[in-house]
Amino acid sequence: MRRFAGALGQCRGLRQRTAGFAATAANTYDFVVVGGGAAGAVVAARLSEDPGAKVLLLEAGPKPPPDASVPVACGGLQQTAVDWARRGPGGGIGQKLKDGMMNLPSGKMLGGSTSINYMAYVRGDPGDFDAWAAGGAEGWTWKEVLPYFRKSESLISDAAPEAAVDKEAHGFGGPYSVSFRNPQRDDVSAFVRAAQEQGYKAADYNSSARAELDAAGRGVVSPHQFSIKANGRRESSYTAFLEPHMGKRPNLHVQEHARASRVLLDGQKAVGVEYVEEVGLGETKQVYARHEVVVSCGSYASAGLLLRSGLGPKDELADDGVDCQDTSAFDEYLKTGRGLAATGLYEASAFYSSGLKPSNPSAQDGQISFCCCTSLPSLWSMNFGIKDFTEDNWNFEKMFHESQPSGMLLFTFNRPESSGEVRLAGKDVHVQHNYLTHEADAAMYVATCKEGIKFLDQPSLKGFGDLEVLIPKALSERFGTDLQSDALWEAWIRSYAQTIYHPVATCALNTVVDSECRVFQVDGLRVADASIMPDALSGNTQAACIMIGEKAADMIARQYGRLLGKRSCITCTGVWEFMLDVETCASKIRIYTGQDGRCKGDALVTFANAASVQLAVKFLHEYEIRPGCRICVQQADFEEVEKKSAKLSKEELKELATTRKPDADRAKYIAAKNVLKEAVSWSGEMDDGTGRRIVILKHLFSPEEAEKEGAEFYTELAQEVQEECDKIGQVLRVTPIEQHLQGIVCVKFKLSSEAEECIRVMDGRYFGGRTVEAH
Ligand SMILES: Cc1cc2nc3c(=O)[nH]c(=O)nc-3n(C[C@H](O)[C@H](O)[C@H](O)COP(=O)(O)OP(=O)(O)OC[C@H]3O[C@@H](n4cnc5c(N)ncnc54)[C@H](O)[C@@H]3O)c2cc1C
Repeated sequence: MRRFAGALGQCRGLRQRTAGFAATAANTYDFVVVGGGAAGAVVAARLSEDPGAKVLLLEAGPKPPPDASVPVACGGLQQTAVDWARRGPGGGIGQKLKDGMMNLPSGKMLGGSTSINYMAYVRGDPGDFDAWAAGGAEGWTWKEVLPYFRKSESLISDAAPEAAVDKEAHGFGGPYSVSFRNPQRDDVSAFVRAAQEQGYKAADYNSSARAELDAAGRGVVSPHQFSIKANGRRESSYTAFLEPHMGKRPNLHVQEHARASRVLLDGQKAVGVEYVEEVGLGETKQVYARHEVVVSCGSYASAGLLLRSGLGPKDELADDGVDCQDTSAFDEYLKTGRGLAATGLYEASAFYSSGLKPSNPSAQDGQISFCCCTSLPSLWSMNFGIKDFTEDNWNFEKMFHESQPSGMLLFTFNRPESSGEVRLAGKDVHVQHNYLTHEADAAMYVATCKEGIKFLDQPSLKGFGDLEVLIPKALSERFGTDLQSDALWEAWIRSYAQTIYHPVATCALNTVVDSECRVFQVDGLRVADASIMPDALSGNTQAACIMIGEKAADMIARQYGRLLGKRSCITCTGVWEFMLDVETCASKIRIYTGQDGRCKGDALVTFANAASVQLAVKFLHEYEIRPGCRICVQQADFEEVEKKSAKLSKEELKELATTRKPDADRAKYIAAKNVLKEAVSWSGEMDDGTGRRIVILKHLFSPEEAEKEGAEFYTELAQEVQEECDKIGQVLRVTPIEQHLQGIVCVKFKLSSEAEECIRVMDGRYFGGRTVEAH
């Protein structure tokens, strides 16, 4: 009975499924998450908390280098291999850029931009999220997102000198460490006091207090909360969410150096992802998602990946040579905060509303921050690419004087009206920010600068030292030195302002994705990262991205939780693994019948793990198994049964022993135990202690077929499998597990490399009309 389809070497083409896709058990996952940054790492980690969910995370970069863990080294990571190192025109700013192009860094490594960022942990104004919801993003009000902020966070609150902490607003048991600088620097304390003297309220900027503004638009001030661990090392979404589980959680697969090139679509359904290996030969590979693909590549690249997959404006995509599905007409747009960028850690912020934003006058568009200026001139020059960054223009002696205190006020314009765009370019995207191209923006930004510079007149900062504002000579010569001059500030902004790295809204809620982050008009595809924010935040973005990851994972788990359970029941893996009967290898499920032989409606299901029992009760109790029929699930109580069961007498036990055939029974018992071990192991691997030498081939027969073919069936099957496997390596034993519902045959090789090759060759082949799974 030669039933393998084709000879070895030809059989791989037979894996083709519908629409030309080549999904096999080995390259198919429940969920494929693309991008392991702020949001993607959270999505992958949370989804894989369910051991029944097989999750693949594709990340274009590697693990972060050691420097990434050192907070002050963050600037030095830009323009290296772990930065996408994109560049783009400034639009209405950046007149003094060397070649008119601004650096647009973003992390290309696990942790994404949380591995390269400046670590300020700022959530935004509660009004930002309420506005998202008012705009149609149901479920995204401040009240509704706060639990997700709290879920991820672990605030180290005893390290909060002089900072107000609203404990209600924070999480203390989540994976993401948030801390304060301790001890606080004197200049930072002086800045916070000066802000208070100017009318700002010292309060926790990550709490509801952030929403309060006085009549002059002044809100709260506080030293920064940072994503820094208790040991002083950077916390990133990699260190918090992935590192603790990688290699330990067998259902979480992380593929580094894997740059997704497109989402694979079968009609209007996302079925997988094509990626290119960024190392070695640069092979192109495909992976498949049984349930969903989640795109979390950040604002620039998520938009790029959708566009490259043919999801976007049809005409534009045709110009870019992309074959477009005729399903959608997404408008992609991009908004971002900007400011005079900091090189040292920026230490404290006060939040301000200029009242000038046409679309929302109460928006907190200004963020006034204090930075300690400890960086090297070379870093400024490298990261900001300013052409007149010369000693003569900037007075380096005073800026970088080691023994004299110096600081920097950083004015961030958080809520612009102008928007930019992302277009495909080569393997990546071209980004055009169009900063300050909307007529209202310059006035808003100037207002924030003028408000912030007044801090220097407050007693606390005045008394702090003999402060001098260093104005670049190129400006003072043309516009004078009056710091209340709008012309001077606008020229300063247009010459030297740069991005502050918070691009958002390229795949916005209600524009490209619905309130559950699902891409409109495509099944099985979500986006979860900064790109879904409908508008720029009144603050930094990492905290909100992590919140988005938490919320998206929760939405997905709610949608598929029960599905995963059901699937796992059938395959006997994951949380729902059944105990198998070692005699029959069938799942231990007992349906009770009455004396008349009819089902009583009760069943006893025996699981391999106690934890599975709890999960079964949690998920299946009250489950509507078919319309109108809800099942009641509870833990079995054996006390009563034990009381009733009569024990066998010594004579009866002896008689039973004489009927046993110890050797045959023992062999059968061991084989069945192996099956059980394989069925309940997380990865399906069989390891006899010398490396993986035993391969499990599934779906080679059905018990019905075996019965029909007669006594020789299993011997012939073993011979045939042996013949095929002999072509791969030295086979020591072939053991069909008789009567097994999944048609299992175990093959033992001499070498583990032969076992690996067998898995590679056999997985996905056809055998007797079935697709073989090899583990
Ligand atoms: C220099 C810098 C400083 C910052 N400072 C702060 C700060 O102090 N505080 C703050 O709150 N925020 C800060 N931010 C912003 C914040 O870090 C980001 O907003 C946030 O990390 C964005 O999260 P994300 O999940 O959208 O994308 P990211 O965190 O950027 O993650 C995207 C991931 O997707 C991967 N990826 C992209 N394309 C592909 C592809 N095709 N295939 C596979 N993988 C892909 C990337 O390599 C990356 O790992 C800063 C950002 C930068 C760049």
